[in-house]
Amino acid sequence: MIIAVDGPSGSGKSSTARGVASRLGLRYLDTGATYRAVTWSAVDRGLDLDDTAAVAQRARELELEISTDPERQFVIADGTDVTAAIREPRISEVVSKIATNLDVRKELIRRQRAVIDAAQPSGGIVVEGRDIATVVATDAELKVLLTADQEARMARRGAELGSVTAEQLRDQIVRRDADDATVSEFQVASDGAVTVDSTYMTLDEVVEVISRLALE
Ligand code: C5P
Repeated sequence: MIIAVDGPSGSGKSSTARGVASRLGLRYLDTGATYRAVTWSAVDRGLDLDDTAAVAQRARELELEISTDPERQFVIADGTDVTAAIREPRISEVVSKIATNLDVRKELIRRQRAVIDAAQPSGGIVVEGRDIATVVATDAELKVLLTADQEARMARRGAELGSVTAEQLRDQIVRRDADDATVSEFQVASDGAVTVDSTYMTLDEVVEVISRLALE
């Protein structure tokens, strides 16, 4: 069983996908965390982020361990626990640049598919990202495109991050939306995808709706 949950930043897809995985006893994969981990590593090593070959090489060499336990998430990059560091604004600000590097995508999609395959014997996995239904797992049994209007997404991200300036928030949502819009496979409803607009829904309601769809 594969459940794909795609959507833009702040659509609530992380909390939703984790909630659905917990509810249904499935594993959970946050593919955004893989792009963030490569970004962290490239920044940590002081690589020129415009040097696409060097960054892609880093992606291939990076030793990456990512938890698929929805109740206990962690990311370890080359032996360093980067669970918190990959969420810092300095990473969010440049992650889209790394995510538009096609060789990085190729490498990370390969790794994501390996995680998805490994989860099948234990029942399945909820995979969240932006290109899961369209590229990573086109054979997913359930494909959800989670949306929410920009205002709601900014408010949620603000609540999540705590003390951020309005400018940082705008950067997190509006600018990243624009950067991510350059990747053509993102956020297009794939065949058979169900669009869930969470603007006026609570997290519990969204988890309930998706869990019910999965059990149909
Ligand atoms: O979901 P999250 O905001 O953590 O994702 C961080 C970034 O990783 C996104 O802005 C996008 O550039 C990239 N990403 C991607 N493909 C995915 C998931 C995330 O390119 N499947």
